[in-house]
Amino acid sequence: MARKERFNTICSYCGVGCGITVEKDAKGVLSVEGNTEYPVNKGMLCTKGKTLNYVAQDTSDRILFPEMRWSRGHKKQRVSWDVAFKRAAAVFKSIIERYGADSVGLYVSGQCLTEEYYLANKLTKGFLGTNNIDTNSRLCMSSAVVGYKKTVGNDAVPIAYADIELADCFLIAGANPAWCHPILFRRIEKHKEENPKVKIIVVDPRKTQTCELADLHLQILPGTDVILFNAMARWLIEKKKVDRAFIKLHTSNYEACRAKAFELSLRQAAEKCGVPVNEIKKAAKMISDAKGFISMWTMGLNQSVIGVDKNVSLLNLSLLTGQIGKPGSGPFSLTGQPNAMGGREVGGMASLLAAHRDLGNPKHRKEVQDFWGGTEISGEPGLTATEMFDALESGKMKAVWIICTNPVVSLPNAKKVEKALEKANFVVVQDISHKSETTKYADLLLPAAGWLEKEGTMTNSERRISYLPKVIDAPGEALPDAEILWRFAQEMDFPGFEYNSVSEVYDEYCLMTKGTNIDISGLSHDRLKREGSFQWPVPNASHPGTPRLFNDNNYFTSDGKAHFNAPKRLENVSEKTDAEFPLILNTGRVRDQWHTRTKTGKVKRLSTHIPTPYLQMNRVDAYLRGLKNDDVAVISSRRGSVRVKVKIDFDIRERVVFMPMHWGKILNNDFGRANNLTGELIDPVSKEPDFKYSAVQVEKYQKP
Ligand code: SF4
Repeated sequence: MARKERFNTICSYCGVGCGITVEKDAKGVLSVEGNTEYPVNKGMLCTKGKTLNYVAQDTSDRILFPEMRWSRGHKKQRVSWDVAFKRAAAVFKSIIERYGADSVGLYVSGQCLTEEYYLANKLTKGFLGTNNIDTNSRLCMSSAVVGYKKTVGNDAVPIAYADIELADCFLIAGANPAWCHPILFRRIEKHKEENPKVKIIVVDPRKTQTCELADLHLQILPGTDVILFNAMARWLIEKKKVDRAFIKLHTSNYEACRAKAFELSLRQAAEKCGVPVNEIKKAAKMISDAKGFISMWTMGLNQSVIGVDKNVSLLNLSLLTGQIGKPGSGPFSLTGQPNAMGGREVGGMASLLAAHRDLGNPKHRKEVQDFWGGTEISGEPGLTATEMFDALESGKMKAVWIICTNPVVSLPNAKKVEKALEKANFVVVQDISHKSETTKYADLLLPAAGWLEKEGTMTNSERRISYLPKVIDAPGEALPDAEILWRFAQEMDFPGFEYNSVSEVYDEYCLMTKGTNIDISGLSHDRLKREGSFQWPVPNASHPGTPRLFNDNNYFTSDGKAHFNAPKRLENVSEKTDAEFPLILNTGRVRDQWHTRTKTGKVKRLSTHIPTPYLQMNRVDAYLRGLKNDDVAVISSRRGSVRVKVKIDFDIRERVVFMPMHWGKILNNDFGRANNLTGELIDPVSKEPDFKYSAVQVEKYQKP
């Protein structure tokens, strides 16, 4: 009888990137447990990670073979892979010939493995001849990418998780790690249990579970984060609590930051933020008293029309206090997807170039072009996530290839996304599950291999690169995404896609990083399998990796210094509320669901926590509308409406409501899709949508 086999891999959900040991028994049945040897989680897993074996083994929803329709209105029919590739290549060639390369684009995902991301980027920018490749990571992290680039010169998270246990003050802003990054939060919780003097400040318009650990919860008005961080900066400067030597030796542009911080008095700032002035002072004092200060943030700052300003004003606090590049300190953005970081590294966004090179730099473009041997790469960024769907709707873009993401549920103004896909001449959807609502719009549906069914690498939130092995065969005719991409490229007659394995793709990418800030030329699949995970850079085969960046205060900027940035806009410029739409809608995640539930929706246990979509509302707002707990309400915005039950409490500010973003159409008849309500405003630089601030009205539902 065959023995049980054990494999070490990485969780396919959030960017914490926990290590999972998968056991496969003689009958092929899988079980999972936390990898006790893995430094990230040391054996711990959250509810989602613990149930991944069910997701991997339930193939009832899987797309099993390529399906195609010759024209709209006809049903899709099963076709061979050969026919699928020929059709895709013929349509892409003809559209490009007729309308130009910018009439096509790829929309990919932070769940793609690094090798897949690399190939999608190479295919698009290097050979299709357009920079129209963007990713759902645009919806979560692009404001942080710009913030890091402006501050430390590149998209580089400076710290390691090991810094958590060395810090004594955490500022957690616009994030609820207790629900969304549970294992990382468990590490903070344990650290505070063992060191009660550790201070935790939470900034959030909602009182979330994370606040239960907080020494101070600043329940600010939505959109006032920049004013708050600037007020803290002002207090630090006024009280001479800044690190003057660090600022002098290792930073530039301090005066601009100082001037901005002094535009408002503390009292004015407190009024605008809706918090007592003493609480701002108290928070700033906690930061200044700390030997190790870590700021953590995620979508609450990033998903904003002023997302970049929010990021730079928070990053300024680390520079003012000299809390970067030393043990237990630094800014730390938390990524929502397992390989959002890997995607950024290979340049898988419309505004980025491979290996953290700069798209606007002609020398960098030439390096990439020569390396790939492809077409000339334009210095103009391609269309970003929302821009791409706008272009499909307006007819400027004709074809889109969507990989491993469900934009019909996850993009803002979802009804507009549906119209855009209906209008497109050709839609390719490459995914694992029929549960993705986007598959309905596919002219060509391609079955992809899922987690455990393919090999490759991912990078977690602390720059840790890990290898994920193939454990089981994919069902039906599903293929690894990397193979789908290289076979399509071959069908297009593009040179340089004659790969025999995913490890060859990885070797090519590693070589391309040589000499860059992100140099991982010391890595290969074999080394990762043999020696475990590494944090980049890893510039040679004996290099141990780099847990913390900037220990030497040598930043990736042109002058080697960290740059203060004065936020351009203090005031929020989100959608205006008025008498018709007087409430502010904030959307986000719940503990046991993930993205659009195509995976977590398969596990019954995960639906016991919160089984259906809902609207969280303050008691006062509910009372004014005659609403009681569990009443059904209609929530409407300038884009559309939804109908869900209300949950009434005092944990959310008056005039602010919250709705989870996970539920879509198929499972919930359109009534629970939060993105029916959200709008199209984006940050002008990061192009990240303003998911956290839409003007809405809530009324009691009256049966017709
Ligand atoms: Fe997976 Fe994130 Fe949970 Fe870890 S914390 S088990 S990576 S979902």
